[in-house]
Amino acid sequence: MPSADYIRGVMRALIVVDVQNDFCPGGALAVPDGDAVVDVVNRMASDAPFVVATRDWHPPDHGSFAPQGGPWPVHCVRDTPGAQLHSGIDASQIDAIVDKGQSSDREGYSGFEGTELERLLREHDIDAVDVVGLALDYCVKATALDARRAGLDVTVHRGATRAVEVSPGDGDRAVQELRAAGVEVVD
Ligand SMILES: [Zn+2]
Repeated sequence: MPSADYIRGVMRALIVVDVQNDFCPGGALAVPDGDAVVDVVNRMASDAPFVVATRDWHPPDHGSFAPQGGPWPVHCVRDTPGAQLHSGIDASQIDAIVDKGQSSDREGYSGFEGTELERLLREHDIDAVDVVGLALDYCVKATALDARRAGLDVTVHRGATRAVEVSPGDGDRAVQELRAAGVEVVD
């Protein structure tokens, strides 16, 4: 008898992290070259059986904002234009949107933190996730690490990410950290 895994196959999902206007050039917290991921994300989404997009979706007084003493400029305030997905993202390929960072007192870098993402993946019998988007050294990293902790096979596609690089080399350090945690990182 073939095993159940053989019959069922591996179910993959694509997680598109925070490809939002505020993280793209011209946005409040622009990731250098952030919009360069849009085309490759659309190509990957068209091949993926299940696609989840996360959005940073903060209350106006989020603790990560400089006026509240946090490290970042005000960004991705819920329901504002800056918090919308980049207009180049093909919305017809997105099966679900998960909003994160909604608690004022929590960072919310990971798409799994305080959201329904893990339940959503389990409902769809997902075993493996491909993680792309913005920014590699913060929300992509945190999301991929949490996916790993949730027991999923995780692949980060570096060419479909960009890093903030607050300190030069943060992108490379993120890749090292991901690999040490058992995340596959490919170009
Ligand atoms: Zn944020």
